[in-house]
Amino acid sequence: MDAIAVLNAGSSSIKFSLFALGGEALDLELRGQVEGIYTAPRFIGRDALGKTLAEERWPEGTKLGHASALDHIIAFVRERLAGRRLAGIGHRVVHGGMEYTQPVRMNAAALDALEKFVPLAPLHQPHNLAPIRLLLERLPELPQVACFDTSFHRSNPEIAQMFALPAALHDEGVRRYGFHGLSYEYVASQLPSLDARAAQGRTVVLHLGNGSSMCALSAGKSVASTMGFTAVDGLPMGTRCGALDPGVVLYLMDRHGMDVRAVEKLIYNQSGLLGVSGISSDMRALLASSEPRAKLAVDLYLYRIGRELGSLAAALEGLDALVFTAGIGENSAVLRERVCRHAAWLGVELDPGANAAGSPRISTAASRVSAWVVATNEELMIARHTAEFVRPTTRRKQ
Ligand code: AMP
Repeated sequence: MDAIAVLNAGSSSIKFSLFALGGEALDLELRGQVEGIYTAPRFIGRDALGKTLAEERWPEGTKLGHASALDHIIAFVRERLAGRRLAGIGHRVVHGGMEYTQPVRMNAAALDALEKFVPLAPLHQPHNLAPIRLLLERLPELPQVACFDTSFHRSNPEIAQMFALPAALHDEGVRRYGFHGLSYEYVASQLPSLDARAAQGRTVVLHLGNGSSMCALSAGKSVASTMGFTAVDGLPMGTRCGALDPGVVLYLMDRHGMDVRAVEKLIYNQSGLLGVSGISSDMRALLASSEPRAKLAVDLYLYRIGRELGSLAAALEGLDALVFTAGIGENSAVLRERVCRHAAWLGVELDPGANAAGSPRISTAASRVSAWVVATNEELMIARHTAEFVRPTTRRKQ
């Protein structure tokens, strides 16, 4: 049976998964990663159930590099394929600009086009593109497909994508792009099998993980989201500050003498839950802590979610459903309960038993706005897109 590989390459890690491409379904076979690529490299490969199949550690201080990490993954995948065909590789790519409203089959010209977006996402885009370039050189016959975090939001009305800046900057590409699109697209694809009203109506999806954002769906299409020009906008996150008055940046540069790199480090790596609590970027650690600053960080996170929910409900002119997803959204009944309590004024009535069980519907039968938990699966979304390129009938079948 043929297989599809999915790669998600970041600054210090490359995550991979492998799906069997057969019949109508895409079945997860393997997943794993090389992490700590420049510090303390470690490879782990697991089967679909999470059982460790292979593990390797390099001595502390080894600078493995992305190319060697990729080689390691390819060798592991090849061995497990045992002669079966790798039909294609799908890549998670953070930025597709305004042009890429759909995934794209990669070649040298498409790669050059995507390089143009490096200035829009300098921390992610170069790392996302590096394995594509390497594989185009080494395995030119292997179909590669880039899937973008921005594409799903290109259905937003023009006005939702605008800043109130001079038109020349808008034309140059200074716009609200939105991110986490592969997660929202996957969640939207699951809604029809859960609830017709959530699928067809006005739904806000809360992707609450280390990176957090929210998206307003109208009949399954994105019409607004909390992330903007970059993935630092909107909600506070593990280490990102979320929405910030741009005057703060001016003040930091003016009064603290901070340059671009220093501000970048502050707003991407030292803020959010970590910055406010001074303890951790990890929601579990904060919920377990008795420190008042841990509680404050969680309170601020929830307050901002409540504010953004009001804003997205206004963009939708009403609300029919809420959907929780990602690490915090899928696993923390406490956080979901607090979000729903703050959203009571919108018509959300939580079913505490269903919420504790994490069952798909967590609102009462009488709740005017239904609430749901859906486990996201960005890798499967990428695999589905990639399958459409290597097996054109897949779209009809799935
Ligand atoms: P993600 O980026 O989607 O993997 O989500 C990571 C975040 O989910 C971290 O902040 C974790 O602490 C959080 N998380 C995972 N499990 C739980 C849980 N049971 N309760 C609260 N937060 C959780």
